[in-house]
Amino acid sequence: NHLKKYFPIKAGLLNRTVGHVKAVDDISFVIRRGETFGLVGESGSGKSTVGRTVIRITEKTDGEVKFRGVDLYGLPAEDLRKMRPKMQLIFQDPYSSLNPRIRVGDAIGEALLDHGLVSKAEVRDRVLDVLASCGLSSYHIDRFPHEFSGGQRQRIGIARALVLNPDLIIADEPVSALDVSIQAQIINLFRKLQETRGLTYLFISHDLSVVEHLCSRIGVMYLGSMVETASRDELFRNPLHPYTKALLSAVPVPIPKLKRDRIVLTGDIPSPSNPPSGCKFHTRCPFAMEQCKQQVPEFRDVGGNHYVACHLV
Ligand code: SF4
Ligand code: MG
Repeated sequence: NHLKKYFPIKAGLLNRTVGHVKAVDDISFVIRRGETFGLVGESGSGKSTVGRTVIRITEKTDGEVKFRGVDLYGLPAEDLRKMRPKMQLIFQDPYSSLNPRIRVGDAIGEALLDHGLVSKAEVRDRVLDVLASCGLSSYHIDRFPHEFSGGQRQRIGIARALVLNPDLIIADEPVSALDVSIQAQIINLFRKLQETRGLTYLFISHDLSVVEHLCSRIGVMYLGSMVETASRDELFRNPLHPYTKALLSAVPVPIPKLKRDRIVLTGDIPSPSNPPSGCKFHTRCPFAMEQCKQQVPEFRDVGGNHYVACHLV
């Protein structure tokens, strides 16, 4: 609810704050239990910061986050610690977060022991269980991270998050570093795990064709703002924001008659420390009007739970 995360920009000998990067600038959305909410946008749009602030790995600047009805930022440290296993993060590159000298079984088991969730005697069985559900086996448990391929490493990353039996998974570009054929396998794994475990996902990606296959709702971010959210079907059939239209027009479609008019965006994404006035997209929007430079468009429901922030709509 009205979530904001501003990072201070420090400068000079006195290290004074001279400005802020508005990484997340007043955004609101709902993820329902058991659904997959896709968050898309170019790099630098604030997606990862949203993912981290909604589970309080990064502290918010303002706004409110509720998890299963509980105000996450109002929780005492001890209660937050108990809640931690229920919200897990999966990264783009699990390899960078795996210690090269620790066997993967131990790396996965460590999290269980840290949270005091099982006794030492039970750890190995729990790790084997979770490896099996991620398509790995006892053959892999005593191996080191460098012995695995990219796709297998992401399976390890997923297993490490799952072993804590979470409800919500924030997956931050989990397939972006993988070959397309491997991407499909990992996406299918995400889907299977959701069905068998009733997981809820916040799935972050710069790639609309990836979220299309997995997400029930999609939010589109631009420069720290949410510009449009809708169900997957509605967003793909009836995109309303010019930025969403531009993103979609770049996605290859197999059926020529569905082909959209190509909207090519010119120019780079502006700096989030000095975003354009009014509608932040006006410097790149092919439909920009005078009003767009002055007035921030309101993010509002245009019917059917379809939200958009654009003066044209
Ligand atoms: Fe384009 Fe104006 Fe709509 Fe922004 S408000 S997306 S500049 S038409
Ligand atoms: Mg990111």
